[in-house]
Amino acid sequence: MYHSQETEILPKPVSKQSPDSIIRIMQSIATSMKRITLDEGPISEVHAFWLAGMSCDGCSIAAVGAKNPSVDQLLKAAIPGLPKVILHHPVLSVTAGDEFIESYHKAKQGKLGAPYVVLYEGSVADESIAEKFGGYWSAMGTEESNDGTHQPIPTAKWLNDLAPEAAAVVAVGTCATWGGIPAAAGNVTNSMSVMDFLGKDYLSSLGLPPINIPGCAPVGDNLTETIASILMFLVGLGPLPEFDGLGRPAWLYKDTVHRGCVRAGNYEEGVFAKNHGDKECLVELGCWGPVVQCNMVSRGALGHNGGCMNTGGICIGCTMPGFPDAFAPFYKAPPGTIVSGVASKTVGSFIRPLRKLTQGKNNLTERWKKEGQVPSGWGHQKHGIVEKVSGYFYSKLQGAGTEFKPNSARQKKLQEKGHSFLKKNIAEKRIEETV
Ligand code: SF4
Repeated sequence: MYHSQETEILPKPVSKQSPDSIIRIMQSIATSMKRITLDEGPISEVHAFWLAGMSCDGCSIAAVGAKNPSVDQLLKAAIPGLPKVILHHPVLSVTAGDEFIESYHKAKQGKLGAPYVVLYEGSVADESIAEKFGGYWSAMGTEESNDGTHQPIPTAKWLNDLAPEAAAVVAVGTCATWGGIPAAAGNVTNSMSVMDFLGKDYLSSLGLPPINIPGCAPVGDNLTETIASILMFLVGLGPLPEFDGLGRPAWLYKDTVHRGCVRAGNYEEGVFAKNHGDKECLVELGCWGPVVQCNMVSRGALGHNGGCMNTGGICIGCTMPGFPDAFAPFYKAPPGTIVSGVASKTVGSFIRPLRKLTQGKNNLTERWKKEGQVPSGWGHQKHGIVEKVSGYFYSKLQGAGTEFKPNSARQKKLQEKGHSFLKKNIAEKRIEETV
């Protein structure tokens, strides 16, 4: 049974600094950098403390599936110039019990002797609610309480204690970044995101507000790549990575998932799946991809494989702050589909046949065109009158405004010139060889 020594662990500012402007953040970063890199010498090691709140551990699985860079590469300092990452993870670390938790205590007491980052997975529950019932929501390690017994330490308390001196606090996954499923309507645990918990004035010792890597689970590479970018900045090898107004790495979350979707061509031509398992665009089955900021499909879920629409799943908006309520009920076409879907179908009904014609024209070699058929047992594509006429006009348009006109008099003249040049050279070569 948990008895907290603190009366409550609720959101409160852990830093007195206030981010009035980007300039102020940058000044704070410059001061912190000076302190970390110059006063304490070059950085060879950075500790990473993993904490899990109201989580399913899916974000941990996603992280270990990262490839570019991999967790392994970060731990072995295999990336030139980057410091070695010493990961403290309740599931992945080989140590356990007091030995495992010792480094957390050292960091809290300022005795670690190296910079550290905090990685928080899951949402942060209101431990004061659990305390009323004599329990806790999420905890790791124990400490001696007032009555002399050892009681679990909530991860919310660890976050509160470790965040002020952390070089960066990274919220991993949608529960940590926005609150996620535990913070959905109802929310009996009063769960919240890391940034809600730390408060709007929070800045890390490096001068950074919480960094958010959303996704349920996020793309593992999004996490490891962001960590590598921060480390690069920390050791002075790179600029501060670009983050958007919600603390997301801008280069990873700027675009919608729709833009990188393998089915986007179907959407554009107004071809939609009717049933799960169909290969066309899934928007009429409830896909929210056109408005959801995520790179899951272009990057792949684990080890660059999978990813929602790549494997037949619709986008349910899991990277977005409104998730899950704003995207529910799942598997129902978003209302916007009525307008955009009809528009795509209308445009597509013109575009598709035209593209088919062009495709037919470009699927023929010059020789086959002359012969009027493809000489293969695989098929007997005839080059009919429709294809011939449309192909003729298409080629005219294609070459309009340029000097390139296949089979034109000029083209033939150039070809003849080329042939006579070759003939002349061959003849001269023969004479040389004879001599
Ligand atoms: Fe866009 Fe979703 Fe269709 Fe992909 S499946 S093209 S993300 S609407």
